[in-house]
Formats: sequence, C-alpha cells, structure tokens
Amino acid sequence: MVPDLQRLQTAFVRRLEAYAREMASLERQIQETREALEGLVPMPVHWRRVRCGKRACRRCPHGPYPYLRVKKDGKWRWQYLGKGWQPPEGFAQAGEFRALLAHYRRLLERLVALREEVAELKRKLGVA
Ligand SMILES: [Zn+2]
Repeated sequence: MVPDLQRLQTAFVRRLEAYAREMASLERQIQETREALEGLVPMPVHWRRVRCGKRACRRCPHGPYPYLRVKKDGKWRWQYLGKGWQPPEGFAQAGEFRALLAHYRRLLERLVALREEVAELKRKLGVA
C-alpha cells in the first residue's frame, strides 16, 4: 500500500473511533435528558419519531420528540410539548422544561450530524 494512503486510512480510523466515543456519550446524555424532561411533566410523556413533510428529506423521521396524548373535542390527539405548547396549570417548571427541551434537540441534532459524518467516512474508507 502507498504510505500516504495508509496514513490517510489511519487518520480516518482514528476519527471514526473519536466519533464512536462522542456518539456513545451523546446517547447517554440524550437518555438522561429524556428522563429529566419526563420528570418535569406531571403526565405520561410519549416519544415519537415524526416526518417533517419536506420532500426528499434524508433525515426523516426526526426525533424522538416528547408528546402528550390529549383528548380534544372527543378525539385523542398528539400534542407536541414544544413550540406553541401552553403548559397546564400546576406545571410549575415550564421555563426549565423549555430550556431542557432545547438542549435535548441540540444533542439530537449533533448525533444526527455525527451519524452522517461517520457514514461519509466509511464511504471514503470503502467499508460502508
Ligand atoms: Zn425530514
């Protein structure tokens, strides 16, 4: 093998290892953040993966994001616990919940970006 190519492959493999470590750490943080979010909501939280509706989106479905099951006009519906959600009375930590949800979304986005970088590196290494 050409030494330059070998060096490049070694660098790629090191990067893959670093990505794997970061992904494991992110997955732990995501799980902890989900539990913390659930702890702030006095009702059962459902975690759903959702489609964004954009054509040819390669990241669909997204999430999982937190939802409540609520009855509206006699029908059960999913209520996203994010933008536009009005916390019910007795929900004392709405601000903390929103900040934590924003943090959770950033962690998820980083994980998705990392998965794409890993896939790209594996393609370059020819091991995909
Ligand atoms: Zn999408």
